[in-house]
Amino acid sequence: MALTGLDIFKLLPKTNCGECKFPTCLAFAMKLAGGQAKLDDCPYVSDEAKAALSEAAAPPVLGVEIGKGDAAFKTGEELVLFRHEKRFVNPTAIGILIPDNLPEEEISKRIDEASKDSWERVGQHLGVKLIAVKCLSGEAEKFKGVLEKAKASGLAIMPMCEDAGIMREAVAVIEDTKPLLYCATSANIDDMCAIAKEKKLPLVVRGENLDSLAELSEKASGAGVEGIVLDPGTRNLKETFFSLVSIRRAALQKKFQPFGYPMIALPCEETDDPFFEGALAGIYIAKYADIVIVSSPEAWLNYPLQVEIQNIYTDPQKPMAVDSKVYEIGSPGPDSPVLITTNFSLTYFIVSGEIEASKVDSWLGIVDSEGQSVLTAWAAGKFVPETIAKFVNTSGLAEKVNHRKLIIPGHVAQISGELDEELPEWEILIGPREAADITSYLRHLTAA
Ligand code: SF4
Repeated sequence: MALTGLDIFKLLPKTNCGECKFPTCLAFAMKLAGGQAKLDDCPYVSDEAKAALSEAAAPPVLGVEIGKGDAAFKTGEELVLFRHEKRFVNPTAIGILIPDNLPEEEISKRIDEASKDSWERVGQHLGVKLIAVKCLSGEAEKFKGVLEKAKASGLAIMPMCEDAGIMREAVAVIEDTKPLLYCATSANIDDMCAIAKEKKLPLVVRGENLDSLAELSEKASGAGVEGIVLDPGTRNLKETFFSLVSIRRAALQKKFQPFGYPMIALPCEETDDPFFEGALAGIYIAKYADIVIVSSPEAWLNYPLQVEIQNIYTDPQKPMAVDSKVYEIGSPGPDSPVLITTNFSLTYFIVSGEIEASKVDSWLGIVDSEGQSVLTAWAAGKFVPETIAKFVNTSGLAEKVNHRKLIIPGHVAQISGELDEELPEWEILIGPREAADITSYLRHLTAA
């Protein structure tokens, strides 16, 4: 029987220390009972209490580890339906579909492109995580050959084959990479579970409807499969969306264990229109696919999806901020321009990128604005003449240059007068409003 918040509270230390990020032990207990917190968040729970709380402590959506080494990633472990309730945990993994009956060159090209789909954005690494090799040839040797090529990509692998005989043969060449096996259906569940259990590999189960999915998931779990991923089996927007939302609600709100696993969506199998496929992938990332397989490794499709994932999985409780200090962009010297802005990561990376592109070596002063962008920070009183002056006077900026010209963002031109008063030795210059105009502004400034 599920424990109530009060049952859990009785077993907690009751010190209200707040280290779990909840103000009291009671608040933590209530969230734990509701599946919106993890027992590990409290470092002071005794082993006895842990044992007693094991049922309540189990995450409502179990985590599954896929891949090995640098390719390893975790999926699932979500606690909430809406990000503002706490945070989403493990970002959706994007996989690229490679049918094994494509021409050799096309297979190599797609695998190569998928492994190069890698971007740095606001200090985080984004990229494709998985190659899904689908056995359409019906030939074990051909399938194995493509899996071996996929293995060389350094990404995690998902072999897709419903023939358990071929799957068993093929898995032998990649089992050391901890692939995600796709998939068990009502026709092959026993054989697929046997492979997954024997090789200790995670397994996708695909239902024909929600009832059969629950049945297959229970079967796989009962057979001792360690990591289960759910495929609702639907292949159109209306049904897939309905299934993904229903499954996640059942797991989080009803603690319905057969649905307490990560989910996979395959928009690549729902349409031949690449633009519609991209739209479907975007929808499934938002609600609540943990793995999404698309057909093309091309950047135009993947980069927007990666940005969407980054935005959704950013912890709303932790501002994306860089350190407040003076940054060297290029190799600035005593005559180099001095620009100033806030410590919101996106602001920092966009502004520093534009300065770099200008090829004008510069100093960039980053004021602590609690991770807010320029206008938000100004409105919140975090990027105002007093805070900017304090930063300029304490950051050592004045010692780095032999001039006294400070460029502020054009969006806060209105503070220049007050800033003049706060920093009487400095001449305040109004920079561009848009980061895209920084290059021409700096080139013009240094040419003058
Ligand atoms: S960390 Fe543990 S002891 Fe501290 S408030 Fe949270 S539940 Fe209570």
